[in-house]
Amino acid sequence: MSYSFNDNTLISQHLESLIRKLHAFVGNAVTQDRYIVFGAGSTQVLSAAAYALSLANSSSSHSPTRVVASVPYYSLYKQQVEYFNSEKFKYEGDAHTWRNRSESDASTNVIEFVTSPNNPDGLLNKAVLHGPNVKTIYDRAYYWPHFTPIPAPADEDLMVFTLSKLTGHAGSRFGWAVVKDETVFNKMVLHMQVNSIGVSKDTQLRAFKLLKAILEEGTQIFDFAYQTMKSKWERLATTLSLSNRFSLQKINPQYCLFYNKVRESSPAYAWVKCEKEEDKDCYAVLKAANIIGRKGNVFGSEDNYVRLSLVRSQDDFDILIQRLQKLVSEEDGAISM
Ligand code: PMP
Repeated sequence: MSYSFNDNTLISQHLESLIRKLHAFVGNAVTQDRYIVFGAGSTQVLSAAAYALSLANSSSSHSPTRVVASVPYYSLYKQQVEYFNSEKFKYEGDAHTWRNRSESDASTNVIEFVTSPNNPDGLLNKAVLHGPNVKTIYDRAYYWPHFTPIPAPADEDLMVFTLSKLTGHAGSRFGWAVVKDETVFNKMVLHMQVNSIGVSKDTQLRAFKLLKAILEEGTQIFDFAYQTMKSKWERLATTLSLSNRFSLQKINPQYCLFYNKVRESSPAYAWVKCEKEEDKDCYAVLKAANIIGRKGNVFGSEDNYVRLSLVRSQDDFDILIQRLQKLVSEEDGAISM
C-alpha cells in the first residue's frame, strides 16, 4: 500500500466527496468552493490550522502570533501551543482580555480559537476578536444535530470537524477542516505531509464506510443520537433542578434547520457550578460522592465549576445520575418531589 492515492494526494477523493454530501444533508456547513484537508483526529487538524495561520516567520519586526480562546475554553489549544513552543506563536489566554487592545495593536497577528458548540459549556460561541490582523479557527466538533440546534450552515473561513463527536469513533483518529483560502489550505496540506505523510489509508477507509452508512440511513443515526443525548440531558436537568447546591448551564433553545423546529440543546457535557461559598473546590465535592469530573481551572475557569461528560456509556450515565440524586437528597433544604 503506497502513501498516496492515484491523484498523488494523501486525501481520498471518495471520502472527501462523502464529507461534502454529509454536510449538505445535515446543513451544518457550507462546503461549496471550499477545500477539505484531513488529519489524525481534529487534534492534528487544529495544530495544522494554527501553523498555517501564523506568520510565515516571526522576524524581529513581528512579535509571535497571539493565540487566544474565550474562557471557559477547551484546553488542547493552550496545551498544543505551549508544547510546540514555536517562535511563531504564543498562548495569551482569554480572548476577552484582548478585545479592545488587539484592535488598536495592528502589528500583532492574532489567532482566536472559537469552539462552537463550546466544550465545556455547549454554547454556540462566536468570535470575540475581529479585525484585519485577526484570524479565527472555528472548532465545530460538536456542531451536529445530536448536540445542538443547527440554526444555519456554518460559513466560516476555517472550520474543523471530527469523526470522534459525529459517530463516536474517537479511536479511529479522523478529523477534517473545511477551508476557504487556497493558500491556507496548501499550508495545511504541507503540514500534514511533513507531520505524518497524511492520514492512514485504513482510517480513511473506515471513515468512508461510516459516513456511507450514515448517509444510507437518512436521518436515523441522528435521530437515535439526538434522542439519546436529549434523554440524558433531561434526566440530568431534572436531578439538579431539586438542588440548591449545584446548578447547570443554561442554553437558549433555537430554531433547528435539521429538525425544522425550535428545540433545546442536548450537549455533550454538563458544566456544573457549585453555588455555595464553602464549595470552592467543586471537583472535590463531587469526588467525595464518587463522581469524577474535570476541574474548572482546566478550562481557564474558577474551581467552583466542574465538567461532567455525558458522552460515556449508558451504564456510566445511570450511575452518575444515581450518585447525583443521592448527593442532592442529602442537601439541607433540598427541594423534595
Ligand atoms: N475539539 C474539541 C472541542 C473537543 O472536545 C475534542 C475532543 N475532546 C477535540 C477537538 C479533539 O478530538 P479529536 O482529536 O478526537 O478529533
